[in-house]
Amino acid sequence: MENVLNVRREVVSKRVERKLIALVICFLFVMVSFLSFAYVVEHKEHDCVGNECSVCIQIQAIESLFEQFVSVGVISIAVGVGLLFFAVSIKGLISVYNSKSPIFMKVRMNN
Ligand SMILES: [Zn+2]
Repeated sequence: MENVLNVRREVVSKRVERKLIALVICFLFVMVSFLSFAYVVEHKEHDCVGNECSVCIQIQAIESLFEQFVSVGVISIAVGVGLLFFAVSIKGLISVYNSKSPIFMKVRMNN
């Protein structure tokens, strides 16, 4: 009994640990995004030195990263909607297959 409780405590602590790690990663992602956006807003009007301006290169990198986030979000939504339609259609096919017709129940009708 003691071993079962210890194993259960270890499983619960690993779950809490994974959730904590995921929360920290999410927090870091949000902070990096917010700080990047603040950098772009702060340095949008700067004293540009020309083609090799490091601030412009940073801003372009951040903007391209945000564009990639948006495109990944759009693709994720499209894939999610596609999977939802696929699941609904599969559920419909399963319900047709499990219907109570004599053909699917393999009832012998001689008369
Ligand atoms: Zn510049």
